[in-house]
Amino acid sequence: MDLSYIINRLGEENQQYFGAVAPPIMQTSNFCYKNVSELRKAITNEKKSLIYTRGNNPTTEILCKKLAAMEGAEEALILASGMAAISTAVLSSVKMGDHVICVQKPYSWSFHLLSELLPRFSVETTFIDGTSIKQFKKALKPNTKMVFLESPNTMTFELQDIKAVAEFAKKNKLISIIDNSYSTPLYQQPIKMGIDIVVHSATKYIGGHSDVVAGVICSSLKIIEKIFKEEFLTLGGIIAPFNAWLLLRGLRTMPVRMERISASTLEIVRFLEKHPKVEKVIYPFSTSNPQKELAKKQMIRGNGLVSILLKTTDMKKIEAFCNHLKYFHIAVSWGGYESLVFPVCSYMKKEDKSGIPFNLVRLSIGLEEPEVLIADLDHALKNV
Ligand SMILES: *Cc1c(COP(=O)(O)O)cnc(C)c1O
Repeated sequence: MDLSYIINRLGEENQQYFGAVAPPIMQTSNFCYKNVSELRKAITNEKKSLIYTRGNNPTTEILCKKLAAMEGAEEALILASGMAAISTAVLSSVKMGDHVICVQKPYSWSFHLLSELLPRFSVETTFIDGTSIKQFKKALKPNTKMVFLESPNTMTFELQDIKAVAEFAKKNKLISIIDNSYSTPLYQQPIKMGIDIVVHSATKYIGGHSDVVAGVICSSLKIIEKIFKEEFLTLGGIIAPFNAWLLLRGLRTMPVRMERISASTLEIVRFLEKHPKVEKVIYPFSTSNPQKELAKKQMIRGNGLVSILLKTTDMKKIEAFCNHLKYFHIAVSWGGYESLVFPVCSYMKKEDKSGIPFNLVRLSIGLEEPEVLIADLDHALKNV
């Protein structure tokens, strides 16, 4: 993949906009035609035409071309949020009476979609831990239609063997969808491993500046055309042209941001692994991860998310650790320029049985100097 070309040039036609190097924001809801016959021609092929911004918009189109190329997909759609992308892709793949196999700990609202919302339409889901292909085979039913993966997830980073699950899905004529937000198209390319549909929260590293919420669906021309005509135009979860433009701006620096963040995070992981106040460090590429060989096989690198289990389950001490961090904002989300800390105790009670440890604290490493972050963590850990 010629990454620089994709990020800097693909889809941009500067001479069409006065030679402007930065493409303009086409802040328009609709597009006009010279005569009725031209409008009629456009309406017969809405996917390829500029008619109305709920369908296509030139600023958004540039982004679609770049993200499809980066993901190794034929086409992409950009939506108003990661969840708009996920719900649109999932709804396009199932109908009443279908069964879904999903990993146990996907993003919380993906879980809600499959466990609460879809059962209202008689679509049932079996949740499996997903670390072994046997579990997929065991969960298969005559009415299974789709598998939904998230590898790794973004709290405890369990992986699925993507190639093996894609083969299993093909063999059983199931649609496979993966949430690839963790890795981004730079660090993991599931379409090349046989997955049908890749979804992303572009709010995270693709935007990268904590100022826009957006999502992406990448797939084949055939699947994207179907989603466009049915769910995309009907559900209408589109992105504003300005937000698409912000994502284009985010993409320009994505490879350097990711490189910096990934390198800093490895340093921080090594520091935390040796720290006496840390019981365990969870990171796909950490030496203690039982799935590290699989991580090496299918991922290029890890990102800036790392979870630690503190050597205490005392909520006051966990809070004190978080509150004493100077360079980490206390916040949900991840993938921005700034470091964040998100403790499980902010949303879970000690007695809850979610499978996520109460003393888990998730860090999202940003673009700050790693030495500064390490000193900050070391200082705050004195409170544990
Ligand atoms: C944030 C996130 C989402 C949801 O994306 P939004 O842009 O917030 O709607 C989905 N999956 C993962 C893994 C996420 O981290």
